[in-house]
Amino acid sequence: MLFQYLGTAAAEGFPALWCSCERCTHARQIGGRALRTRSQAIVDGALLIDFPADTLDHIYKNGIDLLNVRECLITHTHGDHLYPADVSMLRAGFSHVPPDYRITFRGSETVRDALAGVLAQPEREGSAAFEVMKPFETVSLGRYTVTPYPAIHDPGAGPLFYGISDGERAVLYAHDTHYFREDVWENWKETRPHFDLVSLDCTNACLPLTYVGHMGLKENAEVRRRMLDEGYADERTVFVCNHFSHNGTNAVYDDFVPIAAREGFRVSYDGMKIQL
Ligand SMILES: [Zn+2]
Ligand SMILES: [Zn+2]
Ligand SMILES: [Zn+2]
Repeated sequence: MLFQYLGTAAAEGFPALWCSCERCTHARQIGGRALRTRSQAIVDGALLIDFPADTLDHIYKNGIDLLNVRECLITHTHGDHLYPADVSMLRAGFSHVPPDYRITFRGSETVRDALAGVLAQPEREGSAAFEVMKPFETVSLGRYTVTPYPAIHDPGAGPLFYGISDGERAVLYAHDTHYFREDVWENWKETRPHFDLVSLDCTNACLPLTYVGHMGLKENAEVRRRMLDEGYADERTVFVCNHFSHNGTNAVYDDFVPIAAREGFRVSYDGMKIQL
């Protein structure tokens, strides 16, 4: 399984659109991995996770052909993860696609409602569909099995996070969420998943947690410890901090890499590939 990060920032991007804070200024100066677009990832160049406005930039930079993407998991409706106006670019006159092309978006009922308008547009050459994902209900998508988990995040955004397995390797993509709900840990006691890659919400970086709905490095380390203790990961599992905000202390890539390494984490960057 080849996992690739396409965008690795929170809602405002990093550096943020208008921001003159110390971290944004530094990130603009050094560029490279310090520049982060909004959140998106892809498995094997085919199974897409989230659809932000930066999708256009991501497919240019990474040579992705959206006609190879037939499934797109959506975590929740926040704008850094879902931009319905670009889903509407699948219409005739905006995109010419083979008549047998079909893409299915999947997520919570809230995500379904957010996409209902654009998916109802009739003037489309290929087709787009939506399937509701229910927490803890595993579905088969071709060679993958996907299990959604309930996230602690803005309930109005219908938040889910996902476990994705191809039968040999498995990824946990946990954005956006706080420390996991107890019913997730209870579910794992019965289902005994094992993850080779764990990507955790690190919006706050080194900033002590001031609100519920995201994590920082301290909470990431607590999740990692418990996953190792309870057997859902092992010493070969790659743990990655991802989804960064300029509000996070020490959050600029070069600053954060050595700090995260001390807790057993790698740090995501736009375009980062992990072969599992
Ligand atoms: Zn987000
Ligand atoms: Zn800033
Ligand atoms: Zn969010």
